[in-house]
Amino acid sequence: MTELDPVIIIGGGQSGLAAARAALDAGLRPVVLHAGAEPVGSWPDYYDSLALFSPAHYSTLPGMPFDGDPDRYPHRDDVVDYLRRYADALDVDIRSRTRVVAVRARVGGGYLVHTENGDEMPAVGVVAATGSFGNPYLPTLNGQGEYGGDLRHVADYRRPDAYDGKRVVVVGAGNSAVQVAYELAASARVTLATREPIRFLPQRIGGRDLHHWLRLTGSDRLPRAIITRVVRNATVLDTGRYREAIDSGELPRRDMFTAFTPDGVSWSDGTTEAIDAIIFATGYRPHVDYLAPLDTLDRGKPRQVGGISTTHPGLVYLGLEFQRSFASNTLRGVGRDAAHAMTALAAHATGRPRLRRPGRQRTAAQSRAEAPGRP
Ligand SMILES: Cc1cc2nc3c(=O)[nH]c(=O)nc-3n(C[C@H](O)[C@H](O)[C@H](O)COP(=O)(O)OP(=O)(O)OC[C@H]3O[C@@H](n4cnc5c(N)ncnc54)[C@H](O)[C@@H]3O)c2cc1C
Repeated sequence: MTELDPVIIIGGGQSGLAAARAALDAGLRPVVLHAGAEPVGSWPDYYDSLALFSPAHYSTLPGMPFDGDPDRYPHRDDVVDYLRRYADALDVDIRSRTRVVAVRARVGGGYLVHTENGDEMPAVGVVAATGSFGNPYLPTLNGQGEYGGDLRHVADYRRPDAYDGKRVVVVGAGNSAVQVAYELAASARVTLATREPIRFLPQRIGGRDLHHWLRLTGSDRLPRAIITRVVRNATVLDTGRYREAIDSGELPRRDMFTAFTPDGVSWSDGTTEAIDAIIFATGYRPHVDYLAPLDTLDRGKPRQVGGISTTHPGLVYLGLEFQRSFASNTLRGVGRDAAHAMTALAAHATGRPRLRRPGRQRTAAQSRAEAPGRP
């Protein structure tokens, strides 16, 4: 390992950009390797109608506010524009169209990062910030292989026009499932199929957006076990329109079907129904296949605590679901996690121990992560 080696950040989305800024703050030299054409993450690939679930004011990376009304809910394209500007303002080496295919441990310490273009780059540390959108999770049910209709994950859904007049089942009880089913219900015959009743979180409380209260009460920083109890596993943010649509039958909900038939599904009451299209909004898994040579994954999942690898010093993660809190996988939360991870990585890279225990006192990098200044 030499002092000249950079920290290689794999993935140029919000997590990679937050990592790059935190790396600079920690005195490290970041290089971002990004598979896409520009460092705006997966946002351009999300469905067309998507707007943020939090107001602009609560949806920023460290150091750069959103343009315009801070109370508006930015559209997907506003986020793309925001990330583009954020990346431009960072004085960091960002290499687009550079997919990482493997990370290997280097004899003597550090890593070698191999790219699809055939490059082999030494690194003092590695940040895995490649999100999960590239690894959608699709469960397997009886008869799935025989189904002849249109079956897809919501990752491949863009807009409702292809479904006009069709009989559609959307599977899932999260935000994407409810939003997409609601949007489709205007022009298609839709049923939302879920294993359990949908649990809603109020978008607004006492005239303020929920995120105001999350920040005020510090709930955004609570670990998974506590926050899920506080919100009773509710996940779907709602101003009231989704609950009303389901309660009124405008958007029917049914218990999950039990099997596929060649042209549809079998419902739990034993009836069968022909269905033109089935959209699984069943979540994602970490997209970290390039780490396989390190033997650090447990059935595809990173072995880590709070984003710090438990098997490989100098390897950290960003943007994992519930990495440190409810907000880890969001625009508003990833900056905090980035500062935490980079403090650990800088300690590893320089051989100096971390002076403060995470979660007890704030490091200088953590304080800067939320302060305005360099984006
Ligand atoms: C439909 C949807 C709606 C969401 N809405 C919100 C919201 O309203 N508010 C909010 O805060 N969060 C939201 N999220 C959650 C989260 O903020 C986003 O998923 C966000 O895009 C995650 O950012 P990321 O940088 O971690 O990952 P990504 O945005 O997925 O970026 C990772 C990047 O890494 C690149 N990459 C992948 N593999 C490699 C490789 N091997 N080598 C190099 N590059 C690679 C990819 O091309 C990708 O661009 C939403 C998520 C989804 C799916």
